[in-house]
Amino acid sequence: MDLYEYQGKQYFARYGIPTSPGGVADTVDEAVAQAEAAGYPVVVKAQVKVGGRGKAGGIKLANDASEVRAHAGAILGMDIKGHVVRRLWVEHASDIAEEYYASFTLDRPAKTHLGMLSREGGVEIEEVAATNPGAIARIHIDPVRGLDLDTARRWADDAGLDEAARGQAAEVLVALYRCYDEGDCDLAEINPLILTVDGRVHALDAKVTLDDNARFRHPEWDEYAATETDDPREKMAREKGLNYIGLSGDVGIIANGAGLAMSTCDVVNQVGGQPANFLDIGGGASADVMSAALEVINADPSVRAIFVNIFGGITRVDEVAKGVIEALGRVELRSPIVLRLDGTNAEEGRALLAPHLTDRLVAEATMLAAARTAVAMAAAAGSHAVTGAGAERDSEERA
Ligand code: GDP
Ligand code: MN
Repeated sequence: MDLYEYQGKQYFARYGIPTSPGGVADTVDEAVAQAEAAGYPVVVKAQVKVGGRGKAGGIKLANDASEVRAHAGAILGMDIKGHVVRRLWVEHASDIAEEYYASFTLDRPAKTHLGMLSREGGVEIEEVAATNPGAIARIHIDPVRGLDLDTARRWADDAGLDEAARGQAAEVLVALYRCYDEGDCDLAEINPLILTVDGRVHALDAKVTLDDNARFRHPEWDEYAATETDDPREKMAREKGLNYIGLSGDVGIIANGAGLAMSTCDVVNQVGGQPANFLDIGGGASADVMSAALEVINADPSVRAIFVNIFGGITRVDEVAKGVIEALGRVELRSPIVLRLDGTNAEEGRALLAPHLTDRLVAEATMLAAARTAVAMAAAAGSHAVTGAGAERDSEERA
């Protein structure tokens, strides 16, 4: 689970990582109130879970209330790489002398933790990594030994941080590693980690990805989960315990297994269609799970055809077929369904379905054929819609 910057900074605070005083705001008035509390000048920062906010115009300096009003008004509602800004973080502006980069993440090939530190942090860090990888000092951290202050200090020396910053930076690095390790992060990143003109080191940004597998030991993560997504489809799917990711196309997808669900998205793309979602219903495919999956897909106004792609392994296809038939009795679908059922007991499953097939419930023998049919059905439904009265509203909903 990715955190917003303000949540990342709250998480950092638990481990003693210094940040600037500030607060969240959902309206222009709240932004002004937070600015008054933080003290001018302030920075008004878009809260979206995507990088490059600064370059996109989502971070602005304000010297007084009227500037806060202007910037907050402009940033709220702004679209940053497909993410609409609904919340701001307003903090006291820092006087920056230097911008560094610091992060911890898992190095899978090396099977251990990786720390990265650079004196060339800031908004161009990707460029630095690509053109001047030597400017990033990397260390591996033994998970049993952890990171001690001496090692962190030598690391800060190696990275060539300014003399004045090294001692404080080492302390921040140790705290950031604790946050990463004890705080069960997949990623804990500070970019930029700054040295201020008056000689203080602190975190100006926070990028934290929590390891969802550790959720059971972090009840405090519930509040982050509540704001995890503002995609209503994803919210609904999460409430139903489904493994769902919203996409922007018009072919709804249900598959069993993450690998098959991804392949299904690929095949839909391959035949010229666009998946509306990724949805993995996992092992079993009971009527309950299938109904829940169909309900979520049915609630997505973009969907014009549904592709159900099941490969029976331990799950038997005849059980899946029963689940589908029962689910169809419970959910009134807006869109036609194309089924591809294969694997264990496929013949029995198809025989069960045969009497239920219509022009809105179609079975295909292969994944490719099913994808073609689903994409063609979605296209046909789409072309009807543009000639219909609802065309304009439809396209708005899809945007
Ligand atoms: P990102 O673009 O999404 O990574 O957002 P950041 O929070 O990292 O901010 C981007 C850039 O805005 C930083 O690298 C700084 O150069 C600038 N910035 C952010 N906060 C401040 C601040 O308090 N004072 C000043 N002078 N610049 C800031
Ligand atoms: Mn940043």
